[in-house]
Amino acid sequence: MKISFHGADREVTGSCHLVECNGRRLLVDCGMFQGGRRMAEENAADFGFDPARIDHLLLTHAHLDHCGRIPLLVKRGFRGEIITAAASRELARLVLLDAAHLQEEEAEYQSRKMARHRGHHNRQWVEPLYTVLDALNSLDFFGRTARYGQPLDIAPGIRATFVNAGHILGSACVLLELEEQGRRRRVLFSGDLGYSGRPLLQDPTPPPAADVVVMETTYGDRLHKPLQPSIEELYEAIEDTFRRGGNVVIPTFALERAQELLYFLHEGVRQGRLPGAMQVFLDSPMAISATEIFRHHLDCLKPGAVKRFGAGEDPFAVPGLHFTRETAQSMAINQIGGGAVIMAGSGMCTGGRVRHHLKHDLWRRDSSIVFVGYAARGTLARIIIDGARTVRLFGEEIPVRARIYTIGGFSAHADRDELLAWYRHTGRPHHTHPGARRRPGHAPLRQPPAGQHPGGDACHRRGVHPVNRGRGAIGRRGPIDRHSIVYSEAGKGRRSF
Ligand SMILES: [Zn+2]
Repeated sequence: MKISFHGADREVTGSCHLVECNGRRLLVDCGMFQGGRRMAEENAADFGFDPARIDHLLLTHAHLDHCGRIPLLVKRGFRGEIITAAASRELARLVLLDAAHLQEEEAEYQSRKMARHRGHHNRQWVEPLYTVLDALNSLDFFGRTARYGQPLDIAPGIRATFVNAGHILGSACVLLELEEQGRRRRVLFSGDLGYSGRPLLQDPTPPPAADVVVMETTYGDRLHKPLQPSIEELYEAIEDTFRRGGNVVIPTFALERAQELLYFLHEGVRQGRLPGAMQVFLDSPMAISATEIFRHHLDCLKPGAVKRFGAGEDPFAVPGLHFTRETAQSMAINQIGGGAVIMAGSGMCTGGRVRHHLKHDLWRRDSSIVFVGYAARGTLARIIIDGARTVRLFGEEIPVRARIYTIGGFSAHADRDELLAWYRHTGRPHHTHPGARRRPGHAPLRQPPAGQHPGGDACHRRGVHPVNRGRGAIGRRGPIDRHSIVYSEAGKGRRSF
């Protein structure tokens, strides 16, 4: 049995892990690297394995950084089976087609730019990473549907169980029960983890015991603000902006965040915190479709939310809500001088319609930009959050005069304490790989400071040990305590267990 990491190692995006057992090769996730130009090269680079030799791909959830390289995998020869939850399958279809469109647009743009620089029309086409056709082709490889808690026999000696991760609709941790030459191992992939107490999604299921845990620790070094004060902050930002006479632009992730925000706005109006007359625009075809998909999967939602659907009350139906699918409708929003909440993608402002809204509102002192999600380094969202005075949009230098809010409590990711609590539930693994998914420049999953220890053997204060096991040069030496948390220093090494 072997495991190797081909993305999301010592960085946040590009999750892709390969498990080899009984001559079978299984991928867990095949995500895209996101943020900045360098990532384009990483995405196009060799996978580090032969896609044609992969038998199965288990997809934890439909975020781009977990599924975004699937069309490329198929383009490069993958002919195996993709297994995921029903909601993830529907969402992945959306996400992959959208990503393919963006790849095509970007390639077209780069081609034109090159032609301009060379000064002739004889264009050399820049190849997109994959096309819409590639994305459509890849959908043919989605096979069996995983249901939470129901084991699936993948191949002789390989069984997979998807466990609710509570991160986005359809998200799962994947437990692999492996048997090779009489040796048994339970390997648990966390995928992205959510947390309990979200308004719409069911709480994550406590994880099963495992011998090996591969854990994504995006926010392993910090604690989130609680949700309720963040909702208050959002309401105050909106009220304040309306008082000043401007618009609120919210760069929004289409999956989960957009639906949760609609729910909070709905609640705000219902409780009289927000004006019933405000106009709300969900200006993202993908977010609109994702909202529809939510309605197909009521089984993934909290009973309270389902009851509301059942009672004929739509928790996403804010009064004054407009779904703007068409480009012309989207452009018409720019005519509105004030009193509108405009939610548009992409969340990190790397593309999509939000860039147009930024162009129209970023320079206005009476408007506000409200960031409600993670912004990777190098993205426009990060540049604005970090206090840029001007930004370049569509060839124009736009001054940043709008009020900038960053509201941290809407994360769909578990924070340090929630991650540690989840980890404790997995028992006492022989190996753990929580280095995956840490943000650049940030520490991996940290022990709480002395005195704040949440308890539990698995998290003894022994510091964090780089792994020094298995094949390949991984990290520096040092004994690995069975109960300590370890992480890989050089993740692309392959490890036996
Ligand atoms: Zn995710």
